[in-house]
Amino acid sequence: MFCGVCHSDLHTARNEWDVWPTVYPCVPGHEIVGRVTKVGAGVREFKEGDLAAVGCMVDSCRTCASCKEGLEQYCDTNGTLFTYNSADPQGTAPVTYGGYSDRIVVKEHFVLRVPPGLDPAATAPLLCAGITLYSPLRHWGAGPGKKVGIVGLGGLGHMGVKFAHAFGAHTVLFTTSASKIEDGKRLGADEVVLSKDQDQMAKHMRSFDLIVNTVAASHNLDPFIALLKRDGALVLVGAPEHPHPSPTIFQLLFGRRSLAGSGIGGIPETQEMLDFCAANNITSDIELIPIQKINEAYERMLRGDVKYRFVIDMATLAQ
Ligand code: NAP
Ligand code: ZN
Ligand code: ZN
Repeated sequence: MFCGVCHSDLHTARNEWDVWPTVYPCVPGHEIVGRVTKVGAGVREFKEGDLAAVGCMVDSCRTCASCKEGLEQYCDTNGTLFTYNSADPQGTAPVTYGGYSDRIVVKEHFVLRVPPGLDPAATAPLLCAGITLYSPLRHWGAGPGKKVGIVGLGGLGHMGVKFAHAFGAHTVLFTTSASKIEDGKRLGADEVVLSKDQDQMAKHMRSFDLIVNTVAASHNLDPFIALLKRDGALVLVGAPEHPHPSPTIFQLLFGRRSLAGSGIGGIPETQEMLDFCAANNITSDIELIPIQKINEAYERMLRGDVKYRFVIDMATLAQ
């Protein structure tokens, strides 16, 4: 029914990741919500007609330590099968094909329940943008008494602001766009900082427990590391085409600060996140588009001209 448009779709469609080259033809899309049309004989949790969701993964080894802990995205055998552009072990196609399509076949374990009460279109982006922020905010303990920064107000960033606020952390949005200040506050930020303004940045020196950085382009990380408290962490979730310049090592040493990364979230935590969203009335702010406008949507996403996630109405594929 619906598929969100992640910046990773754009990176992949344009073959921007050296470490993960695109195999064409490519069908992007990993923020998928729809109705179950058929189930296999062994399926227990879903039946025809159920509202269901698929995120960034469709399989993993299921037996390694990470898979057993429900962290299938970090499968120790490199067995994570991503929803698109992963070599397809079933051999039905050279690579997996994602959600810019009218159907998908997925093992039951990798299908999520969409709780009642959530708008299906606005739920789709939770499957990547949502879980990618929910997971590190939980892992690094965002909550009451903690000061948490979110860098970049795009698809991922706007979910980060909503979750950090919902978890009770003092939430600060860093943006390069003055036009997003009011929205940042409406979405839940206690403060909004223009990251290019050195005076504004200086006021927050050594004050953050955690900063999650969603920016989709290479940039200098030092100004953000300088804002961390002792033992604070800067967690990278943005996956730019070109690497960031190496940070100044001494800023990490003095203050025992961490620079870390985080990838999406496991299946149990993704279900937990969807249930949390239903209980707390959280979804993504979306603009619904027909599939025919996808290239225009990519250009607008690059300009930061989206509030805050495009979602494709997949019914338009038939037009
Ligand atoms: P997006 O909607 O395009 O948002 C990125 C935001 O970064 C922009 O809205 C902008 O916010 C900020 N930004 C600042 N300078 C920028 C620049 N030069 N170019 C682009 N953005 C700039 O993208 P998204 O869908 O949130 O994805 C963000 C990144 O995360 C992508 O690289 C994507 O591939 C990656 N990702 C990673 C994971 C993971 O598991 N780790 C999962 C999904 C996506 P301001 O205007 O507020 O500055
Ligand atoms: Zn994504
Ligand atoms: Zn595994």
